[in-house]
Amino acid sequence: MSEAPSVFSRIVSGEIPTTLLAETDRVIAFADINPQAPVHLLVVPKTGEYRDVVALAAGDPSLLAEMVEVASSLAQEHTGGDFRLVFNTGETAGQTVFHVHAHVLGGSLQEGSLGGA
Ligand code: AMP
Repeated sequence: MSEAPSVFSRIVSGEIPTTLLAETDRVIAFADINPQAPVHLLVVPKTGEYRDVVALAAGDPSLLAEMVEVASSLAQEHTGGDFRLVFNTGETAGQTVFHVHAHVLGGSLQEGSLGGA
């Protein structure tokens, strides 16, 4: 039995509306619905084939590189260039959507906030 499409696959297909901030042939980006920083964007591959960054790095490293490029150009536009890139990987690390995605965080972040503890 196949799994239900992830919330991000439903955004990619247009079933769930969002405002795209960037799009390439293989990647989209949009604002996180529950922001954890002054700037909190998500970079998401259109394919739902990879559940996390480890699977993506093994399966399609050029797609991972494209996500980093998109994150960097978003940061140029939204944070002046500096950013934190977070891939939550696994449930106990806070991953809730098992369709690989990068959190692009920025805007006067404090070093001590890295782990959120
Ligand atoms: P993670 O916990 O690392 O799996 O990240 C999933 C992220 O997706 C969370 O930060 C959610 O706030 C975000 N999210 C879930 N649904 C939506 C949505 N419809 N639009 C934008 N962000 C969403």
